[in-house]
Amino acid sequence: MESGTAARSSETSAASNGATAAADSIEVHNPATGALLATVPVDPPEAVAATVARVRANQPEWEAMGIEARYYWLGKLRDWLFDNQDRVLDTMQLETGKVRADAMNEPAYLADLINFYGSRAAKFIGEESIRPHSPLLAAKKLRIQYRPHPVVGLISPWNFPLILSLGDAIPALQAGCAVVIKPSEFTPLGVAEVIEAWKSEIGGPDIFDCVQGIGETGGALVDAVDFVQFTGSDRTGRKVMARAAETLTPVSLELGGKDPMIVLRDADVDRAANAAAWGGMANSGQICMSVERIYVEEPVYDEFVQKLTKEVRGLRQGQDGDRYDKDVGAMTSPNQTAIVEDHVTDALASGARALTGGKRVEGPGDYFEPTVLVDVDHSMKVMRDETFGPVVGVMKVRDAEEALRLANDSRYGLSGSVFGERERAEQVARRVECGAINVNDVLVNYFATEVPMGGWKESGIGTRHGEGGIKKYCRSESLVITRFGGKREPSWYPYTKARRRLVGPLVRLFNARDWRRRFGLKR
Ligand code: NAD
Repeated sequence: MESGTAARSSETSAASNGATAAADSIEVHNPATGALLATVPVDPPEAVAATVARVRANQPEWEAMGIEARYYWLGKLRDWLFDNQDRVLDTMQLETGKVRADAMNEPAYLADLINFYGSRAAKFIGEESIRPHSPLLAAKKLRIQYRPHPVVGLISPWNFPLILSLGDAIPALQAGCAVVIKPSEFTPLGVAEVIEAWKSEIGGPDIFDCVQGIGETGGALVDAVDFVQFTGSDRTGRKVMARAAETLTPVSLELGGKDPMIVLRDADVDRAANAAAWGGMANSGQICMSVERIYVEEPVYDEFVQKLTKEVRGLRQGQDGDRYDKDVGAMTSPNQTAIVEDHVTDALASGARALTGGKRVEGPGDYFEPTVLVDVDHSMKVMRDETFGPVVGVMKVRDAEEALRLANDSRYGLSGSVFGERERAEQVARRVECGAINVNDVLVNYFATEVPMGGWKESGIGTRHGEGGIKKYCRSESLVITRFGGKREPSWYPYTKARRRLVGPLVRLFNARDWRRRFGLKR
C-alpha cells in the first residue's frame, strides 16, 4: 500500500505547486488499500483546446433546443444514475475510499438537482418582461433574455468527485452551455464513467466531455472556455483566477472552509453532540463545510464534550463495500493525511489533548483516527487553517458573544451552525460571518438547493444553487424595443432651444418630488 500512495503523492506534487510540467499519465490508487486501480492518460493543452472546440461547435444546437428538451436529456442522465447506481457507487468507493453511505449521497443529490433545475429553469432564466420605470420610456418594450456562456470549464476536487463536477455541470447544461470537466487527478474515474455513459449509453448530444490531468490541463481549460467554475483550495483558486484574468474570463470559486459550530447553554446537548460527530467525521471530515471548530457555552461544555467523545469513539472505521456497516472511510488524498497529521501534532505539542483518536491508523490503507481535541486555542493550526480530516477542536466559551468573536476570527467564511433554543440560536446565527448557516443542524444547507451556497472572505467568490446558481452560467442581454415613435426622438439632433424646452419640463415633471419643482415655479 505504502509504495502506491507514495507514487501518487509525488505525482500530485505538481498539482500542489500548480506546476505546468506534468506527467503524461496519472496513476489512480484505492486509498483504502493502496492498490493501483488505473493509469489515466493526461490530456495535453492541444487536446484540451480540441475538446473545447468540438463541444463549442455543437453548443448552438443544444442552446436552440430549449429548456424542456435539455431537461429531457438531463432526465435521461438522472434515470441512468438510478439504473446504474451500484456501478457508480462501486467506482466512487474504489477511487475515494468512502464508506457506502457517504458515497450514496452523490447520485441522490444529482438526481434531485436535475429535477430542481429542470423544473425551475424557465422561471430562473426564461425571458423577463420589465415595466419601464419612467413615463419617458413608455414607448419602449423592455425585455431581458439570458443567453448561456457557450462553453463552461469545471475544475473539481476529489472529496465529492460527482457532486462537485456533475453538480455544477447540471445547471450549466440546463442553461444551454456546453461543459468540459477536469476532475481531480485523485478521482478521475467516476466522472469519466458517467461522461462515457452520456455519450455511448444515453446517446446525449456531444456537448459534454472531460479532460484529465493536473495543473497544466486545468490551466489549458481556463484558457479555452468562456466561464470557469472552480472548486478546490483557495491556493489553487487564486492561480485559476489570475490565469482567467489574462483572457478576462469570468470565474466562480468555491474554496475551502473552517466551519464553526456554536453550542449555546440552552441547546439539546444530545442533538448537538450527535450533529458535531456527524458534521465533523462524515466523509472522513473531507467536506468543505465540515464542522472543524466547536465553541460551547460553559454550563453545557462538560456534558457536550463527554457525549461527543462517546459518539466519536464508537464510530466504525474501514471499508464496507456495499454492506453499509462502516461509518468513517479512508482519507482520499495522501497529501491531505499529511496536513491532518501536522495539525494534530502541532496542537498536541502546544498543549491540546486528544480525548479520542489523534493519529494515523496503522496497517493497509490511508486512514486517520476520528479525533476530538480539547484545550485548543486560536494559536494552533487546527483552529486556524483548514484541516479537512476527521478532527474537531472544542473550546469552552463564557457566553455567546465570546463564541461569536471566535467563530468570526477566521479568514474563511463558508458556512457554520448554531445549536440552542430556536429563537436565540437564530439571533446568534444571523451574526456569524459566512455564506450559509444552519440552526440546530449541520451540513444540511447543501441540500436546500433553493438557497445560495457560497463562501465569504477567502472561502470563495460567487455561489451555487438557487436562481443565481443557473443564472451565473448566462449572460444577460437587455432588449430595448421601440414600439412607436416619429422620425426623430426629442433628444436627437438638431439641438435647438425649442426642442430642449419640450424635454426639460418633462424631466422635471417626472423626477421632481414636489409640485413647485415639478412645474418649475419660482421660490
Ligand atoms: P486543489 O485546489 O488542490 O485542486 C482542485 C482542482 O484544481 C484539481 O482538479 C486540480 O487538479 C486542479 N488544479 C491544480 N492546480 C491547478 C492549476 N494550476 N490550474 C488549474 N487547475 C489546477 O483542491 P483539492 O485538494 O482537490 O480539494 C480540496 C479543497 O477543495 C479544500 O480546500 C476544500 O475545502 C475545497 N472544497 C471546496 C468546496 C466548496 O464548495 N466550497 C467543496 C469541496 C471542496
